[in-house]
Amino acid sequence: MPGKKESLTRRNFIAAGSATIAAPVLANMAAAVPEAKAAEPARVAEKTYDFVERKSCDLVVLGGGGSGLIAAVRAAQLSGKKVIVLEKDTEAGGAMRGARTVRIFASKWQAKRNVPDTTAEYAHEAMNRMYWWLDEKLVNNCLRGTGQFFDWLCEQGENMEDKFYPGKYVFAHSAYEPLSPQRSAFGAFVVGTMKTQLKNNPNIELLTSHRVVDIEVENGKIVAAIAKNDKGYIRVACKACVLSSGSWIRNEEIMKKYAPLYFAARSAGGGPGGPGGPGGAPGGAPGAQGSQGAPAGQAGMSGPPGAQAQGEGHESAGGPVGGPGGTPGGGPGGLGGGQMSGPSHDSPMYTGDGIPLAEKVGAFVDYDSFVIRPMGPNPSTQSKVCTAMTQTPFIVTVNGQGKRYACESVVMNLGFFDGGSVLVNAGGKSCDIFNDETIAAALKYSQLPYGEQDPIKEVDLVPGYKVSIPSSSAEIQQDLEKYKSTITQADTIEELSEKIGVDKAALAETIKTYNEGCAQGIDQFFKSRKYLVPLTKGPYYACQGGLGSDGAFGGVRVNHEMQAYKADRKSLVEGLYVTGDFATGRHVNVRGVKWQVLNDLSWALSSGFLAGTNAAGYLKSIS
Ligand SMILES: Cc1cc2nc3c(=O)[nH]c(=O)nc-3n(C[C@H](O)[C@H](O)[C@H](O)COP(=O)(O)OP(=O)(O)OC[C@H]3O[C@@H](n4cnc5c(N)ncnc54)[C@H](O)[C@@H]3O)c2cc1C
Repeated sequence: MPGKKESLTRRNFIAAGSATIAAPVLANMAAAVPEAKAAEPARVAEKTYDFVERKSCDLVVLGGGGSGLIAAVRAAQLSGKKVIVLEKDTEAGGAMRGARTVRIFASKWQAKRNVPDTTAEYAHEAMNRMYWWLDEKLVNNCLRGTGQFFDWLCEQGENMEDKFYPGKYVFAHSAYEPLSPQRSAFGAFVVGTMKTQLKNNPNIELLTSHRVVDIEVENGKIVAAIAKNDKGYIRVACKACVLSSGSWIRNEEIMKKYAPLYFAARSAGGGPGGPGGPGGAPGGAPGAQGSQGAPAGQAGMSGPPGAQAQGEGHESAGGPVGGPGGTPGGGPGGLGGGQMSGPSHDSPMYTGDGIPLAEKVGAFVDYDSFVIRPMGPNPSTQSKVCTAMTQTPFIVTVNGQGKRYACESVVMNLGFFDGGSVLVNAGGKSCDIFNDETIAAALKYSQLPYGEQDPIKEVDLVPGYKVSIPSSSAEIQQDLEKYKSTITQADTIEELSEKIGVDKAALAETIKTYNEGCAQGIDQFFKSRKYLVPLTKGPYYACQGGLGSDGAFGGVRVNHEMQAYKADRKSLVEGLYVTGDFATGRHVNVRGVKWQVLNDLSWALSSGFLAGTNAAGYLKSIS
């Protein structure tokens, strides 16, 4: 995809114009807040509210998710000023409560353990990959901000630094990935720590069940936030603001406009049930400096509509030491998905409420950056064999026309996490095909000693992935039998094509070409020779792969201090800082797929910390 920078969202944006873009968002908000005027373009409706309560503070935080809480605590500690956090959910913490995979750069914690600072090398490599499209100052700050955040976190309780062990980001794909402090449920731990700090700090007030519905703007600055609770409207006067309202994945109009491929694929059925996550890095493998092995498998993410919810997206059943590969996972379905409990990528809170607020104050809402992080193909079965096979390069994956559309290994190697190929080339639906020979080859591979499997260097493998297939043929057969209702089985390729509903001739041709490639050692999709195992003998197994998502990202463009740019894209909105999923700066939108220098949790930690730090500086400067 490099070189194809033009995005669908860009074309849509130019065609639509900014005023009409705001309208659906407003309409969406109006559905939940009847008092708002749906048709008002580009501005939240100006109206007089009958306030049931008035409050004032120095800093108001709009959205008490992970990054908002960090910003609130940091700003209050540094400035000694009054902070109010407005959160529309009944509980604060947002998506961060479910997140665990993290990268930390250049912390004192790492220096103390002789972990080299690879920030520059990592950033250089990432920026090369992204054609230097990002602001290098912002990239530097957001990477180093992770370490600054972490050192600060270590000051927020007794023996904090002992609560972490060194390990790499589960999907490490760069030779310069830092060995970072890790622990189970990292995000939930941070949220818990912030909540404790918040309770102990009389300068911070957290108001849950308070949905921010409007702001007051004077001279280009936010001077008050207006929230609605069960009693009515409340006005919170402020001098500065952190906007941390998270994702917009539950705003259908925005989804249609800015994630059209994803929206179409998911609306068309979106594929089968909940995904299984890639297995974790090899269990108990010795880490650097005698550390524990990498965390165990990471389970899946939000599944398509109708997904069999099984666990929380990203969260793993595994503990800090190496264990079995990730179990099939996946939260409730996306658009139109099921009941939610706990944090989810598809939380009904994510209606993009920050968009009209940002536009009202004249911030640059960068629609070009609005992007979904597609995932997939996600297996539709809980079969251990299928889940493992669909994450190895030994399978053959075809689209709805019975044709291969990418190297299977590419589909999985970050494809699993940036499932652009399944979205763009396969319309969100695909099918993984294998047989007993390919299972045996994958099993043999999985039994290689640690070190001979090299998921970091191998382009064919999911970084950190551990093939986790039952080790005896009896167990394999038991598993295939147990889940046979979710695995298509056939004795011939013709019968298989009928059962999975793809063109017979096309699938036969695909398999023939693949087998010829195996014989010659030259694959049409450049698969490494060592994973080329021909499909010549039934029974054949087929497992449907669907599209999932890791969330929706993009919003206000920020500078390296997390301050919002104005719509002119040059000057800055005074006193406004934006964080987390709703802040644009560390990713680009490449044909509807997100490319990033930093993973979401790390960005939320870093941007929250930087926003809090800089908001505190601003408050001091004006007092
Ligand atoms: C289950 C799950 C697992 C994840 N795992 C990982 C992982 O392992 N690694 C990783 O890198 N990333 C992961 N992520 C993504 C990561 O957690 C998020 O990107 C990050 O937490 C975003 O932080 P945030 O502060 O921007 O958003 P959030 O933490 O979601 O906070 C936004 C908050 O704003 C509130 N809000 C919205 N509108 C309003 C309004 N009008 N008024 C008041 N409040 C409002 C919301 O209710 C929410 O609490 C995961 C996400 C989920 C859901």
